[in-house]
Amino acid sequence: MTSGVVASDDPLAHQAYLGENQLQILRKYGTEQAVSDGDVLFVDGDHTYDLIVVLEGFVKVVEGYGKPDSDVIVTYGPNEFVGEMGLLTGQRVFLTGVASGSGRILRIPVEKVRSIMTEEPDLSELILRAFLFRRALLTTRGSGLTLVGSRFCAGTRRLLELLARNRLSSRWVELEGSAEVEAWLQELPVPSEDLPIVLVPGHRLLRNPSNRELLTALGLTEVEEEASNRDDVCDLLVVGGGPAGLAAAVYGSSEGLTTTLAEDTALGGQAGTSTRIENYLGFPAGLSGEELAARGALQAKKFGARIKLAARATQLSSRDGIHAVTFENGETISAKSIIIATGARYNRLPLDRLAQFEGAGVFYAATQMEAQTCVGRTAVVVGGGNSAGQAAMFLARTCARVYIMIRGDSLASSMSRYLIDQIEHHPLIEVLSNTEVTRLVGDAQISAVEIRHAGTGAMSILDTCGLFVFIGAKPATEWLGGQIAVDKHGFVLTGPDLPQDIVRKLDRAARDDTGDNLGQVPNPIIMSGLAHVKRLIEHDVCRCLECGNESARDILNMYDRAPRRAVRLQVDLSGRECPSDQIVQNNVEPQAR
Ligand SMILES: Cc1cc2nc3c(=O)[nH]c(=O)nc-3n(C[C@H](O)[C@H](O)[C@H](O)COP(=O)(O)OP(=O)(O)OC[C@H]3O[C@@H](n4cnc5c(N)ncnc54)[C@H](O)[C@@H]3O)c2cc1C
Repeated sequence: MTSGVVASDDPLAHQAYLGENQLQILRKYGTEQAVSDGDVLFVDGDHTYDLIVVLEGFVKVVEGYGKPDSDVIVTYGPNEFVGEMGLLTGQRVFLTGVASGSGRILRIPVEKVRSIMTEEPDLSELILRAFLFRRALLTTRGSGLTLVGSRFCAGTRRLLELLARNRLSSRWVELEGSAEVEAWLQELPVPSEDLPIVLVPGHRLLRNPSNRELLTALGLTEVEEEASNRDDVCDLLVVGGGPAGLAAAVYGSSEGLTTTLAEDTALGGQAGTSTRIENYLGFPAGLSGEELAARGALQAKKFGARIKLAARATQLSSRDGIHAVTFENGETISAKSIIIATGARYNRLPLDRLAQFEGAGVFYAATQMEAQTCVGRTAVVVGGGNSAGQAAMFLARTCARVYIMIRGDSLASSMSRYLIDQIEHHPLIEVLSNTEVTRLVGDAQISAVEIRHAGTGAMSILDTCGLFVFIGAKPATEWLGGQIAVDKHGFVLTGPDLPQDIVRKLDRAARDDTGDNLGQVPNPIIMSGLAHVKRLIEHDVCRCLECGNESARDILNMYDRAPRRAVRLQVDLSGRECPSDQIVQNNVEPQAR
């Protein structure tokens, strides 16, 4: 073990010095304890740990505790506190805290830390900023779990994306070109079909884990699952944990609704990968996507929202006014209302060999993970929106040169003015207008792109080791399976975009037949009562999605045979000539007969 006490002005301790008043406040939440030299305060592999405030003496934070190559990565002294983001997110502990010399500490359990984060604004700000700062340093250092896999393997790329999007500090050991790794694998032993593998401190070896398995091993799913009662019907289920979903969860739970937020990959969504968001209300100095996600999650939890990670919604259904979402692992959550905030997935360039180079030089995000590929070299960013601009600014910190390729004449129509100004003044960034990528060049890894100038038709080759693609995205609504009205691009229709004739029709039908006051007509539109069904069949062109029948008599006969069965009808609202993208599908449930 490395010995010696590192001075407390170590960068990991940055911003973490507590004044006497702050210590007084913290004492209300914790318990004081005497410690002796070598006492282990928390150990890697533990499920969670307390916030440790050093009152007297020192506490060392050790990586690989007890192993021959263990390393003291920081030492905290009096008036400093020990901890990083994982304490708030519930991540399994990956470092060890050891007392150095005798002293006194204040132990604050994690649930009390959560209370501090919501009850003590000054301390909450100090702790959050220090935790984020320390997480960034640990990410640069590569502390935490180790992923071993080939850059050409889809499983490795999937896990790398998961780690990056969750902003998890980790080390990636590439198979290629490392005799040491090969020897290591033979020793474990791991057959090649089990790769990639992940080593999480304190957990068994994971062989090509699913996203869910890895997040569970890290402790990021279990806690929330235990807390939730799966038999409950919650007031509000929010699907998708990007900024929109987090905001919906905050507002829902703060209004006293029992709220569950279900997210497939990582809280923060697309914004979570942003290095700097400058136009978010209330943050004039800007904030990182990581900070936005952390703040949003804390706020939602403060009001009692349940957060489920690694929860990919695959199906939506409705019955008796209760909606249910089924998830990839077979679980179902029922809710009185559902907010769909599943955002969008990135568009891809229509190029040969694209799939081969994805993760091997073609990227859809520019985080520290991807940027490593291009340090000191040339990067090409495709796209003219804000995400492309931010990526270029971020890459220019470490690349020798960054090109932004756009098909149009200028960035003016697609990028915010503040970003254009930054790009124009940046000595390492150049905008290539009226250009497009026509070919990817390289063997295992991208080495160049062929580009065409739209005006002249001239072709040229641009050497690069990274193509960063930011050309928009498609709505992630395919899982709705036709239960919801969407436009021809797949965007969910809401408010005034919802076809007015169906709004009126359903409103009228509801009043005529049941006296129900539908008030607002939601999307999806749920019909109950045979009279409603008859009305739709009589007045519109309908096709039963179950049996394919179009005739009203056939469909009604089907109800007679199986009266309690839900039957989905496809309703053409504007006549037989109407194009298919205007067809709305309704879930029609015959019940009251
Ligand atoms: C690099 C980058 C930088 C950006 N910078 C800015 C900026 O500075 N300012 C700005 O205003 N905007 C910025 N944007 C755009 C901004 O991030 C998006 O507009 C915003 O994230 C959209 O929020 P959302 O919640 O609607 O969707 P998303 O952020 O797309 O979030 C949707 C979430 O739903 C989840 N999801 C999808 N399908 C399912 C499913 N079936 N089940 C469960 N969960 C699912 C996804 O995993 C995702 O987390 C940036 C985007 C990027 C990529």
